[in-house]
Amino acid sequence: MNVDETVALFRHGLESGRMAQGYVISGAIQGPARDAVGRILQLLFCMDSQPPCGQCAGCRQASERAHPDLTWVEPEKKSRIISVAQMRVMQQRMQQTSFSGGWKACVIYAADRLNAQAANAFLKLLEEPPEKTLFLLLTDSPQFLLPTIVSRCQRVNVAGAADALRPEWRDRTLAIMKEAGGAGPVTAMALAERTARLLAEIKAQAAEEVKAETDSETVEEETNTLNARIDARYKEKRKQIVLLMLSWYRDVLMATVGMEDEILEHADCQADIRAKAARIPVTSARNNIGIAEHMNRLLERNVSESMALNMAFGAWR
Ligand SMILES: [Zn+2]
Repeated sequence: MNVDETVALFRHGLESGRMAQGYVISGAIQGPARDAVGRILQLLFCMDSQPPCGQCAGCRQASERAHPDLTWVEPEKKSRIISVAQMRVMQQRMQQTSFSGGWKACVIYAADRLNAQAANAFLKLLEEPPEKTLFLLLTDSPQFLLPTIVSRCQRVNVAGAADALRPEWRDRTLAIMKEAGGAGPVTAMALAERTARLLAEIKAQAAEEVKAETDSETVEEETNTLNARIDARYKEKRKQIVLLMLSWYRDVLMATVGMEDEILEHADCQADIRAKAARIPVTSARNNIGIAEHMNRLLERNVSESMALNMAFGAWR
């Protein structure tokens, strides 16, 4: 969901009194995900009758991170991790009574940087949270959080421009899919290679994005950590390419069973989808989807990318 939808979700939760204790808010932590957290804090601390007004002292203090009921934790400058000592300070603050008589909130910025000890300390707090407290875990790499923490939190993914596939990448993927299937092994290999080249560009873009989001001090950061973040970002984008391929074959299947154009996801490619559907039997159309799903599973298991691509392009009809 986007920033507005995220804020609406929290507004609804507050109004209906159904709030989770903790939220994992994933997305670009120097972009939309951080903006969403800023607005959620204003929602909690606003003193106007229609929060968040963005004007009152509560809103201002929230956006300056200076509200007495807000605890903001982020990685230490040097080590780039969140330590157990920081968790203890946070814990003490969260157990004090609220200054304003309302909510207390704790934001853990780059929550994937909690080291093991800190994560366990936080987990204990999350198991027995003080009343009317809200924990917001902000991260661009939720896969690095302890599963036990994630399972106690509600997940919210804040999408922004950075998460979207470039229209150019979408078009190139669809152009590849138009040619895929049934043209012989040489074409299949060429298409797999074209896809691999597209993915290489996407990976370079992911690296640029991650580097732009980390500040200059992070240059000292361990290359391993940086590479892991780039890899995670890349895999999110690659997944969208795979889902695009899957949705292409879903459309072909829809077309083979005579569904109308309106329900096709790629209505702009309907001529190609119809032509393909006319050439293959419904069993092949169904198999194509199974092959795309199999490719997805192989990639998730970190099987070599070129192997997964060659498998799929070789098998599609
Ligand atoms: Zn306000």
